[in-house]
Amino acid sequence: MSGNNIKVVCRFRPQNSLEIREGGVPIVEITDGVAVQLKGREAQDSFAFDKVFGMETEQQEIFEYSIKSIVDDVVAGYNGTVFAYGQTGSGKTFTMMGSDIDDERSKGIIPRIVEQIFQSIMMAPANMEFTVKVSYMEIYMEKVRDLLNPSQDNLPIHEDKAKGVYVKGLLEVYVASTEEVFEVMRRGGNARVVAYTNMNAESSRSHSIVQITITQKNLDTGAAKSGKLYLVDLAGSEKVGKTGASGQTLEEAKKINKSLTALGMVINNLTDGKSSHIPYRDSKLTRILQESLGGNSRTTLIINCSPSSYNEQETIGTLRFGIRAKTIKNKAKVNADLSPAELKALLKKVKSEAVTYQQYITALEGEVIIWRQGGQVPESSWATMEKATKGNLPQVASPQQTTATAFKPLVEDSRPATPALVLEKDEREEFLRRENELMDQIAEKETELANGEKLVETITEELTFLKDQEKNLTAENQAMSTELSDVKLQLQKIEYESKESAINVESLKETNQDLHTELEELKKSLEAVRSAQKVNVDEEKMKRKADKMAEMMAGFDPSGEISEKEKQIRDALYKFDLEKSNGPMTMEDIAQLRQELAESKSMLEAHENLIKTLNEDKEGLETKRSDLETRLTTLEMEYEELLDKTIAEEEEAFNRNTDIAETISELKVKLEHQYAAKKELQHKEIEELKKEVERKNEEYQKLSSAMSDLKRANEDLQSAIASKPSSTGNMSEKEKDLERMRKSMAQQLADFEVMKKALMRDLQNRCEKVVELEISLDETREQYNNALRASNNKAQQKKMAFLERNLEQLTNVQKQLVEQNSSLKKEVALAEPKPKVRSSASSGS
Ligand code: ADP
Repeated sequence: MSGNNIKVVCRFRPQNSLEIREGGVPIVEITDGVAVQLKGREAQDSFAFDKVFGMETEQQEIFEYSIKSIVDDVVAGYNGTVFAYGQTGSGKTFTMMGSDIDDERSKGIIPRIVEQIFQSIMMAPANMEFTVKVSYMEIYMEKVRDLLNPSQDNLPIHEDKAKGVYVKGLLEVYVASTEEVFEVMRRGGNARVVAYTNMNAESSRSHSIVQITITQKNLDTGAAKSGKLYLVDLAGSEKVGKTGASGQTLEEAKKINKSLTALGMVINNLTDGKSSHIPYRDSKLTRILQESLGGNSRTTLIINCSPSSYNEQETIGTLRFGIRAKTIKNKAKVNADLSPAELKALLKKVKSEAVTYQQYITALEGEVIIWRQGGQVPESSWATMEKATKGNLPQVASPQQTTATAFKPLVEDSRPATPALVLEKDEREEFLRRENELMDQIAEKETELANGEKLVETITEELTFLKDQEKNLTAENQAMSTELSDVKLQLQKIEYESKESAINVESLKETNQDLHTELEELKKSLEAVRSAQKVNVDEEKMKRKADKMAEMMAGFDPSGEISEKEKQIRDALYKFDLEKSNGPMTMEDIAQLRQELAESKSMLEAHENLIKTLNEDKEGLETKRSDLETRLTTLEMEYEELLDKTIAEEEEAFNRNTDIAETISELKVKLEHQYAAKKELQHKEIEELKKEVERKNEEYQKLSSAMSDLKRANEDLQSAIASKPSSTGNMSEKEKDLERMRKSMAQQLADFEVMKKALMRDLQNRCEKVVELEISLDETREQYNNALRASNNKAQQKKMAFLERNLEQLTNVQKQLVEQNSSLKKEVALAEPKPKVRSSASSGS
């Protein structure tokens, strides 16, 4: 069995990356494996412990030296405790649990302890029956949480005579193998991870306690022993700031530190040699581990330190804590349940003791009576305990006067009396009962409080949320109000604008109406004028045509000549008829007749030729005319196209807000150009036609001169006949000839008449065509002027259309704005009551 002092071992871990990064250097020097010398800037102290482990120490070595014996003790029925103390990151968890419980090299002391326990059990004699129970809890913010049953997060601590101090309601899992224990460890570990939002910050401020209870029973004797092993990974020993590292309040920071502070106080009071009161009840940790500190336990404290100069201050603090704890004296003893034989012997002993006490009491009472009666008892006869034990006490007092007074407890309590006051047995039990009740109530109240706090927290959160929301809503409301007023202003503006537009539209409509009526009137008058003009034009045309025809026909009438010739022939015929009735014709007459006949014949031929040429000309003129007509239509079409195109361009230009007057003048210029070109072309054509007509006139002139030549030739013939002696042939023969001649002449004359008429008709037709062409030229000119006017009119119409379109757009815009306004009004109406409701809700809450 190890000594009663707490065993303190010190372990240094290697420097971590942060320390190296920050330029830290190892400042510890270990001597003989038991002392450590700090070679820091601030302290040069040296500290001695039961053992000091350097940075490279293996897990196995730690276990072998400091822990293995504790396992043996626990298996033997002692209580054992292993504490790991040190700042966060100093290697407490690494030492206790290890970085991997399944890894042979790096697993910590807890897995090794468990293995050792089961090994010991296996090696125990067959008549020994073992049961192993495991529980896993943690203390965070002064609340005990069952890590194997995480819903239990504020378990009360009780104490009673039989069980000592224990956590009420803590789940204890019976285990039969190492694996089962590991499984339980994992379960507990996972519950820790789930519970914390910030694993490092919160887990480093909680104390985790693994409790292993080993009970053994001698099946032969019935004697039983039980040992409890507490494996404690303490919270980081570094000082938690006033407000805590993760925004804790001062109260919370105090609570987090409370268990560690109480641990320090307990150790202080246990070791200062003058304190009679040990404040175990000041914290949950010290209360649970009451037996481990100055009580019935074999305790080992492992202080974990950083070797680095970077953590010098914390290391000094840890080492000092270890030194103080080293002086704690424990009173470890086996927790045994006695076997019947042992109990019998004990009873016998107690019975004899009782007889002795009884005798002593009786002797004392007898003596007291004597003293009270004023008598004296010689000193040699005084009753003493020694005499009572030896059985030579005088028999004095009467039995009725013997009353049992104060009894010292026969069996001393195995645990230190937790209240500092020494209480009577019944009082103590009553006290513990009362305390347990109070503990339950406290736990209950704490749970209630925690729930209340949670509720307050949620309500506060809700309140903050609501406040935020209200703030947002107010801001939104304000923004909306400004927006609304803006919109109202805009609306007013738009209303004003729309009114203005409406007025504009009204006036435009009126103007439009006026223009329409005007246009209608103009159309009507135009129609009237047109019809009148048409009649006039028709009349005028006819007149002009007739005039022109007359003029033209007057210029080149060959019919005069023909008529003259005709007249001559008629005269001759008349003469012939007259002579026929009056008597025979002279030779002269005959010759004249012949001459005339020949002339007529040649003239006839010439005329026939002329008619032929005229016919050809007519045909040529007709083709020309049709050509001209097609050209005219093409020109008109082109003009229409051009006009459309120009108007389209104009429209585009107009849409682009160019100046309408400018575009109209451009259009005019373009049209003028077009017309000038067209006019020129037509002029040319007319000129050509005139030339043609002139040519025809010339031809007629030539024809006339040819006829006069013919006349002259006829005259020559006549003179030739006259110079010739007249033959006196058979008169009847002559008459016959004459008659034939007369007939043929009459026939020829009739033919000539027909031909003449045809010729005249043809000529007239031609003239008509020329006249018509001229008239059509005039008309085209007129059309051109009309088109110019129309283009002006069209521009005006376009302007009207544009204005109408504008008006339509304005009306649409107005409509949209009115809709927008009403929807905004609705939105405002919807939005306005909300803040009121919310603010009333938030003030209510
Ligand atoms: P604590 O529990 O004291 O907060 P940890 O045990 O979590 O500290 O150790 C912090 C880190 O240092 C871990 O990553 C751990 O693996 C490492 N560590 C601690 N001690 C040692 C050691 N002796 N050897 C190697 N690494 C160690």
